[in-house]
Amino acid sequence: MDHLENYYGRQFLDYQLSPKLKARAYQFPATFKKADQLYCRRCNSRLLSEWCLPDGSYYCRNCIVFGRITTDNKLCYFPQENFKRGNYLNWQGQLTSYQAEISALLVSAVKARENILVHAVTGSGKTEMIYKVVSLILDKGASVALVSPRIDVCRELYQRFKRDFTCHISLLHTDSEEYHRAPLLISTVHQLFKFYQAFDLIIIDEVDAFPYADDKVLYQAVANALKSDGSKIFLTATSTDHLDKEVKKGRLRRVHLARRFHAYPLVVPRPVWLSNIEKAIKNRKLPSKLHSDIARQRKTGYPLLVFYPTIKEGEEFGDILKTNFPDERIGFVSSQMENRLKQVQDFREGELDILISTTILERGVTFPEIDVFILNANHRLYTKSALVQISGRVGRSDSRPIGLLNFYHDGISKQMKKAIKDIKEMNKRGGL
Ligand SMILES: [Zn+2]
Repeated sequence: MDHLENYYGRQFLDYQLSPKLKARAYQFPATFKKADQLYCRRCNSRLLSEWCLPDGSYYCRNCIVFGRITTDNKLCYFPQENFKRGNYLNWQGQLTSYQAEISALLVSAVKARENILVHAVTGSGKTEMIYKVVSLILDKGASVALVSPRIDVCRELYQRFKRDFTCHISLLHTDSEEYHRAPLLISTVHQLFKFYQAFDLIIIDEVDAFPYADDKVLYQAVANALKSDGSKIFLTATSTDHLDKEVKKGRLRRVHLARRFHAYPLVVPRPVWLSNIEKAIKNRKLPSKLHSDIARQRKTGYPLLVFYPTIKEGEEFGDILKTNFPDERIGFVSSQMENRLKQVQDFREGELDILISTTILERGVTFPEIDVFILNANHRLYTKSALVQISGRVGRSDSRPIGLLNFYHDGISKQMKKAIKDIKEMNKRGGL
């Protein structure tokens, strides 16, 4: 048997545990009835009539990836225990006055058991701002979960926290190792289904990146894993309808951080008309307008990050670019490429001049001094939040807080308009 302490604060289905462990767990029926309707106790979904099994029992389709729940099952959980107290923060950096203000506000909000939404512009240095509040909780022997919908973001956060905190940290996602008990968990939001009333503080980073915006099941995962007297902090660069509603209802307090760490405003996207890029790619041609824009950009020597919404055409565009600019070192990344981390690293270190990317690099990455071109910016895959995030890749460094940011389109989309409006509004708030 695994160490019992690895089970503290976690929930399982009865069939996932040995009889010996099961005997030690608290058990509840995995479904419950409300107003004559069946519900899943884990994800709170109503069980639909089409989720009926041949034997007449029901199962939950919404959280099935964590083990199938049926009306015959029990949910078992092990109460959370305290951790060893300690001062684990080992960070020598300095917060800007704006960051320090938010950092202090988070500490007082968590002490007052308030839930907070931090609407912070891209490149404002959100991660450093949460160090103090995380450290405060760990100091008390309590536990923190830092979650994001994206694995890439989790990995990046894990690297930073491992560097700046000395406690054991558990990283959980679909490809990770098994859970080992730690006062700080960094994981995808889905993994919270494996916990029950386990955390005193849950921080949800990049909440606007939920695969389906406002996915109720994911909010339920957070609610279940949080202790009844715990607090939540949402971090986001763009608000969502769900969060706006929570703010309106008074369940969430919104604070803004409208300044980047270097205090320069966000770079505002420039819409550029470019007709039918898809057709041009099919004909293996580089539109002359784009050719001259890229040629001009290359003369500056700054790295160029180009976004293309779809993988196949993006790759083809890369080939066309290589033919037209044989002297430039050009790379391509997508979610389906195994060497994508290497390409990203090469671009960061100046080994590549141009990197073409799908939305995989829309957030969580910082490249110094880059320019960004979004092709087909009016494509349906580019939501407001994706466009704001991609725009946020420009002007992140002190050495070059500005940069080129072109949205190439053949008909401005609503999402483009919203993104540009959002960026301008945040700049106004920043008061520069
Ligand atoms: Zn469920």
